[in-house]
Amino acid sequence: MSNTDKANNKPMLNAYPDSMGGTLGDITRILSSDDLKGTFSSFYILPSLYHSDLDRGFSVIDYSLEDSLAKKEDLNALQGMGIDLKLDFILNHASVQSPQFQDLVAKGEESPYKDFFINWNEFWEGKGEMTPEGYIKPDDKYIKDMFFRKPGLPILMVKMPDGKKVPYWNTFYQEVKETPEGEKYLGQMDLNIKSPLVWDFYDDTLKKISEYGASIVRLDAFAYAPKEPGLKNFLNEPGTWDLLSKVRALADKYKLTLLPEIHASYSEKIYETIADKGYMTYDFFLPGLIIDAFENKDGSTLVAWANELIDKKIRTVNMLGCHDGIPLLDLKGLIPEEQIENLIKTVVGRGGYVKDLHGAKNMYYQVNATYYSALGEDDKKMLAARALQLFMPGKPQVWYLDLLAGKNDYEAVKAAGAGGHKEINRTNYTADMVSEALNKDVVKRQIELLRFRNSFAAFDWDSSIEAKAKDDVIFIKWIKGDYAATLKLNLTDFDCVIIAKDKDGERVI
Ligand code: BGC
Repeated sequence: MSNTDKANNKPMLNAYPDSMGGTLGDITRILSSDDLKGTFSSFYILPSLYHSDLDRGFSVIDYSLEDSLAKKEDLNALQGMGIDLKLDFILNHASVQSPQFQDLVAKGEESPYKDFFINWNEFWEGKGEMTPEGYIKPDDKYIKDMFFRKPGLPILMVKMPDGKKVPYWNTFYQEVKETPEGEKYLGQMDLNIKSPLVWDFYDDTLKKISEYGASIVRLDAFAYAPKEPGLKNFLNEPGTWDLLSKVRALADKYKLTLLPEIHASYSEKIYETIADKGYMTYDFFLPGLIIDAFENKDGSTLVAWANELIDKKIRTVNMLGCHDGIPLLDLKGLIPEEQIENLIKTVVGRGGYVKDLHGAKNMYYQVNATYYSALGEDDKKMLAARALQLFMPGKPQVWYLDLLAGKNDYEAVKAAGAGGHKEINRTNYTADMVSEALNKDVVKRQIELLRFRNSFAAFDWDSSIEAKAKDDVIFIKWIKGDYAATLKLNLTDFDCVIIAKDKDGERVI
């Protein structure tokens, strides 16, 4: 049984609520203006539209709207324009400032939320040694298959009412500050999926998200949630799939299509497992494959990937850039390692950043850059990349900065300090900056392509799609009934021809 039905295959804008103009109200106005009207059918609003603190939205305090950025009337206005929503459900963690964590900190053992989060020492009891700092250091045999995203153990020491510090599991970000009133901390605290209260919270959250007008729910970092001593803490099997099917039972109640977010190398075939289980899946290969095809003037792997999606009837959301980096290590198994290394070098050579994991070079799966800068800030390549994306099987998601041909923002990285590499591709545009960008040819022409993709009847989930590569030329054709759309892209000069055919004949777009 498929859970993909609610999502159409038309273009989706992706932005923070404050990315264009300052608030979601501003974006809504821009989307309804003559400049952008009819360009998008969906909008993935990043989670800072909720009440949140760290990680630009991914540390949710509660799922009510952050009034200064987003109002219910803005969501209603989007719905009125025929734009449905993709929203995040961050099921692996909640903020230190969430009411549940605050209750725990205030009442300790007496709190009903005592087991809502993961008490590290209880989790590892009997499986390691207590350190003088008060946390258990698990024996190697229990953590050898675990993947920690930061140096040291993923814990935050939290002061309880009796003054004792207790470690809690914290996979992602934390911030500890010394203040005159004592230690102040923030953090994305992992939730304990074995607690029935967590499942009540999940149910309430999905209900709320559906009431906001979501049709797609992005399951943020969901594969970190199932944890067992001695097993993997990322994509633990079958725990991850059990979790997914339990979440799906809730999502089905609210008619939500789930989009599980997971990065894994191509060779692991996780995208296929997810699709086989009846979910939509992310195409995290496309951004790297396009740059690879452009650099090597060879579209054969990209076309093979398109044909795999067609043959296996996999429904994807694809993209060029997004709020995270350009995923390149996902390509392991799809293109040779040496080619991946070259891609990293190319993007870094054009000003991008690579985040090293625990000091190990290129262990991290993303390179941080705007897609426009990653392509060498070349308008013709940007348009060719956009055209390819719009002709790939899947629902195209469009990062606002790519649409506006935004360049790497080094000032923002500097201002953000350590760990601020992602800011290179998250510049907030004022309304004036947006107006200026909308006048650029590379932006206008992307909009023209998007309008075509958004409205032409050849593009649908059940269209028949043909994809071919010959020498340095890629052809992709979509056909549905009397409608056909063809892309012919030359990888040497990036000339791109798009032809639309209907009952009245052919026209060049
Ligand atoms: C999001 C990141 C975020 C992390 C933790 C990821 O998958 O894309 O931006 O930092 O989840 O919520």
